[in-house]
Amino acid sequence: MHRGLIVQKFGGSSVANVERIQEVARRVVDYRRRGYDLVVVVSALGDTTDELVELANKINLHPSEREMDMLLSTGEQISVALLAMAVHKLGVEAISFTGAQGGIITDTSHTRARIIKINADKIKEELKKNRVVIVAGFQGVTLTQDITTLGRGGSDLTAVALAKELAARECEIYTDVDGIYTTDPRVEPHAKMIKEITYDEMLEMASLGAQVMQARSIEVAKKFDVPIHVRSSFSKNAGTLIIKEVKRMEDVVVTSVTINKKAAKITICSLPDRPGVAAKIFKKLSLEGVNVDMIVQNVSHTRQTDISFTVSKSALQKAMKVTRKAAANINAGQIIADEDIARISIVGVGMKSHPGVAATMFGVLAKKKVNIEMISTSDISISCIIKKRFAERAVRALHKEFGLGK
Ligand code: ADP
Ligand code: ASP
Ligand code: MG
Repeated sequence: MHRGLIVQKFGGSSVANVERIQEVARRVVDYRRRGYDLVVVVSALGDTTDELVELANKINLHPSEREMDMLLSTGEQISVALLAMAVHKLGVEAISFTGAQGGIITDTSHTRARIIKINADKIKEELKKNRVVIVAGFQGVTLTQDITTLGRGGSDLTAVALAKELAARECEIYTDVDGIYTTDPRVEPHAKMIKEITYDEMLEMASLGAQVMQARSIEVAKKFDVPIHVRSSFSKNAGTLIIKEVKRMEDVVVTSVTINKKAAKITICSLPDRPGVAAKIFKKLSLEGVNVDMIVQNVSHTRQTDISFTVSKSALQKAMKVTRKAAANINAGQIIADEDIARISIVGVGMKSHPGVAATMFGVLAKKKVNIEMISTSDISISCIIKKRFAERAVRALHKEFGLGK
């Protein structure tokens, strides 16, 4: 029986060792025998990508981004070959592809490349021969044959993009948790699995630090309406559906709490308070490719003001350098970097129609004696920057206050 095409993606922990790879192969073969066509996307084994980054930094703290992509893409090349061998061993035909062989064409922004198009002819040919096609996640190739990577967590994006291109009936993301939870289950053991969640909520969660899905993959899924099914590669449980709209019987105001410890804060003190100052600094940062997240400017009483903003920790050095240069030109005071921070956020589409959510959040933090250093809000989220050591405590308290626990 012919049941249609499924794209399945297996993350690093799902292929961490030989036994896990064999387990994945058994699942793939089981689906194949039940009549599904399969395109399987895999990540690098376990922590391989982190280890490769470390290795590179031992040689050069500022490696060329092109060479970094050359290096990191090897991780996924190992997994696809090993998984193909494991599937063969179970008597099913399969073939492995690099991103380039899979026709994943990207722009030239090394380490964070964007997919321009997918030439899926080769994949389709192999599917026609009844083979399982196993594609290396996280990587692509430029029009001039340079290997690129799609940003950390990018195998999710490979899977979603292939599901769209091949008009798959489903895109399954297999990981080491049962699905999407109300907060990171490693931080709060009482976190509850969410059966259905909207693209908007998942995108907000991912952007605010819920590592379980790469934010860019959700952007693509939302744009092309690709339903995603997140589930565990360690069990047969049903998991979470990420879809356009969720009909909830009762209004749920807050659906999840997120934590992000990968941000750092820069404060520029005593800036002259006149038009054009902020424009100058943030233009310089953007020209240098530094992504700025939250920005807070204090009210000035003395014709001088302080501005604080956050960047990712990995961009801190570069951001400090650019900020120092820009600030020197406009007569600013001291510039302070702070890595000892965490961003905690609450997310939920129900927030739009419910007043008082921010007050409740601040009240919880006050009760725990946690000082709020910065605040930012969107339509469907509220975030606070706090000292890192309070992060887990704050997440658990918010999770409880908004009634998210089991
Ligand atoms: P993979 O290797 O499969 O890509 P990741 O490590 O990227 O897996 O993502 C899975 C991890 O994301 C989980 O182990 C969990 O600790 C973390 N996580 C953070 N927030 C959430 C959440 N809201 N729901 C589920 N998992 C989450
Ligand atoms: N291996 C890559 C990473 O660790 C891509 C992925 O796992 O999705 O970021
Ligand atoms: Mg991941």
